[in-house]
Amino acid sequence: MGEPKTTKCLVVGAGPVGALAALYAARRGWDVEIYELRGDLRDASTTPLNFTKSINLALAERGVNAMRHSGSSDLLDRVVSESIPMYGRMIHGADSSGALTEESQQYDVHGRFNRAVDRANLNKLMLDKVDLLPNVKLHFNHKLVGADLRKRKAWFERKASPPQTADGAQAHQDQTDERSQEVEVDFDLMLGCDGAHSNVRYHLMKFVRMNYEQTYIDTLWCEFTIPPGSSASSKTPTAKDGFATSADHLHIWPADDGMFIAIPSVDKSFTCTLFAPSAIFATLEQDPAAVTDFFRTNFPGAADLIGHAELREQFEQNPHLPLISIKCSPHHYGSSGVILGDAAHAMVPFYGQGMNAGLEDVRVLFQHLDAHPATPAGRTAALDSYSTERVPDAHTINDLALANYWEMHSGVRSPLTLIRKRVEEF
Ligand code: FAD
Repeated sequence: MGEPKTTKCLVVGAGPVGALAALYAARRGWDVEIYELRGDLRDASTTPLNFTKSINLALAERGVNAMRHSGSSDLLDRVVSESIPMYGRMIHGADSSGALTEESQQYDVHGRFNRAVDRANLNKLMLDKVDLLPNVKLHFNHKLVGADLRKRKAWFERKASPPQTADGAQAHQDQTDERSQEVEVDFDLMLGCDGAHSNVRYHLMKFVRMNYEQTYIDTLWCEFTIPPGSSASSKTPTAKDGFATSADHLHIWPADDGMFIAIPSVDKSFTCTLFAPSAIFATLEQDPAAVTDFFRTNFPGAADLIGHAELREQFEQNPHLPLISIKCSPHHYGSSGVILGDAAHAMVPFYGQGMNAGLEDVRVLFQHLDAHPATPAGRTAALDSYSTERVPDAHTINDLALANYWEMHSGVRSPLTLIRKRVEEF
């Protein structure tokens, strides 16, 4: 009897979840091939999808633990060394006299914290680790266009890197078709880490009776930047160490119909996000001059931190994007395909757990794979038990994320508000 064949694993999508999944698979000695639609994020010319620049995210224990088990001991050290601890949330407002107020609410009585990380930097650190492994091949500018999960074959369209527009979309090019070329690849296991609009999920659905639910909430988001304290036109009383306001917090300006949040970055700026109903965006798009007044009324002090001209400019230039929530079940087919991260459970960002839960998917999946023989039958059992465990967890975190919108834009204002609402509900 010969040696058992090495598992050939295709990872579709080189976002944070795909890059970590590739690391886990490679550490098990598998032959790993990563296929990514866009160019290499580590090239300065590649713009992160949907963002004008990289955004920073809240990295929680769920994501940290997944990196801890990646087999790359210094990955987590590097990520942590380039992160900022956020010990709580800072609630901004104004008192009855109009004076600005800041109220710190600690996350944890024991002083535990979340970390603010730069999403692109995290992704790059992971890709650098993957690149060092001899059993991983990276293929950028390859788009999955077809997959037969029964025959274990996938088809990718290979393109020369097309130019990108400011919002990350690929600009239309007449010659694109001439230059693209289809590539056929076979595999034992395909890991679909290709985000909310996953093509792997679409092809998986042809082979498995997948229940699928997709919801757009009536809230749009737009990104803004508070510059470092030295260039900001205003600072708050908690500003320190070159930041325009406290770097120890995730900042929230709650409002009846939305909220504005800010997360610190290592360059001492803050990446901010406006969340508001689509009707408010439509009104402001008609009259961008009203953006400053809108901010002054709803988010006291925030416009001064950004700068009034910059606020309007960023509202006009940065994309206004929707928020999608996806639930599906199961997450796998037989022994040959499984979806992870946003591909399996895109969620609204109000719990700060989308990427964290995606990274956790990777840890949990490999726990199940390690517990079964590395054969097709063993993989079928592993993927089956993975879906059984993970689907209810994914649905729960999706629901919690939706519910936390109320908490962030309303509940945070006062513990009394929360108690009153809970009493009314009771
Ligand atoms: P993605 O990051 O979407 O990566 C998918 C990759 O697949 C992309 O590189 C894409 O180019 C590629 N791809 C797509 N289609 C194909 C194809 N056909 N062929 C090949 N490749 C393909 N999460 C947190 O944990 N904490 C936060 O604080 C947080 N804040 C957020 C704030 C906002 C405003 C938003 C919108 C999201 C936030 N999230 C947060 C969620 C987080 O960004 C996502 O959950 C995370 O990026 C998902 O990672 P992923 O690797 O699954 O998918």
